[in-house]
Amino acid sequence: DCTIAGYDDELAQAIADEGQRQEDHVELIASENYASPRVMEAQGSKLTNKYAEGYPGKRYYGGCEYVDVAEKLAIERLKQLFDCDYANVQPHSGSQANQAVYFALLQPGDKILGMSLAHGGHLTHGAKVNLSGKILDAVQYGVDENGLVDYDEVERLAVEHQPKMIVAGFSAYSQVMDWARFRAIADKVGAYLFVDMAHVAGLVAAGVYPSPLPHAHVVTSTTHKTLRGPRGGIIVSKGAGEEIEKKLQSIVFPGIQGGPLMHVIAAKAVAFKEALEPGFKAYQAQVVKNAKAMAKTFIARGYKIVSGGTENHLMLVDLIGRDVTGKAAEEALGKAHITVNKNAVPNDPRKPFVTSGLRVGTPAVTTRGYMEADVTELANWICDVLDAPADEAVIARVRGNVTAQCKKFPVYG
Ligand code: PLP
Repeated sequence: DCTIAGYDDELAQAIADEGQRQEDHVELIASENYASPRVMEAQGSKLTNKYAEGYPGKRYYGGCEYVDVAEKLAIERLKQLFDCDYANVQPHSGSQANQAVYFALLQPGDKILGMSLAHGGHLTHGAKVNLSGKILDAVQYGVDENGLVDYDEVERLAVEHQPKMIVAGFSAYSQVMDWARFRAIADKVGAYLFVDMAHVAGLVAAGVYPSPLPHAHVVTSTTHKTLRGPRGGIIVSKGAGEEIEKKLQSIVFPGIQGGPLMHVIAAKAVAFKEALEPGFKAYQAQVVKNAKAMAKTFIARGYKIVSGGTENHLMLVDLIGRDVTGKAAEEALGKAHITVNKNAVPNDPRKPFVTSGLRVGTPAVTTRGYMEADVTELANWICDVLDAPADEAVIARVRGNVTAQCKKFPVYG
């Protein structure tokens, strides 16, 4: 008997329960999605056994002829997907891809200018608690009172601090970022422009969100969010030149990583092939339509959306001035089988573990097949719970509705 069940029942039960949770709960965490069975097939494959330090054709181990095929497929498809000329598919995660960029192009103590976590940036964009904020001298920009990036302020900070690198990209921002303006600011002060497109990579691949590739010196992403692949990271660039490309190659391996995860790289190859299909464009367009429909409903029900709406796959519901905190809202919605995450909103008066906001995203529900009418119903139920977060009867009714809706849209069937 070689299955987990019967050998390790406690773990088997946890895996089965998680699978059931994914079917029975509605997933609105903006950074999550459902990988396809093909992606999971590759991730569970025998490629996990293979050491392949180095790059295709230049490995430090024998027996790499087949994993080379997998990695080359991943690289070529990734270049095609983002119309670029350099791709590294080895970073184990988004954070490691970002770390690679910093160590490839900067020295410890160098100045960077990135978006603060509290205003929608990611930890790895220079937060004090992250290596990026410990090893580099990070200055942070944020959004203005309307929840929008203030490019004049970014420019002012860049001129004042003369960073070696400007970091653009976000984990919680619902508008289009002006990559060209960021590049103009970077050029003005002689800085690199590094874009972390983790959240919008799928939208970019599908052409429903502007690509940072023509503007940035280097771009990173995760592969498991809107891109809908396995958990992992990538680095891409267009026209960066041989010198930067060489630095990126050697920092990923041997700089910060050892053996690449060949099973994950094979799964990336599958995901990139899926993302090149025409259906992926339709999917991403629907992700944005669904997000807009949800934002419209929240606003109609009297809830403020940071920046006034959404142009991508996510939005931040602003709970400042309301009795319900982000934490309480997350818990009440959780009881109703709606999974969201509490999220600080700009100028949040509450602590980061409490917050006054909810981040809501549509990539996962759209993979399940939800259309505008479905997410509008869902957004109304969310508002019902937010209006009365302590009312168990409301929560029970919404849970019933959500359960019935989830049954209509099986994730894996
Ligand atoms: N970059 C951005 C913009 C993100 O939102 C995230 C994850 O949430 C990451 C990087 C980090 O990716 P990982 O969790 O794979 O390290």
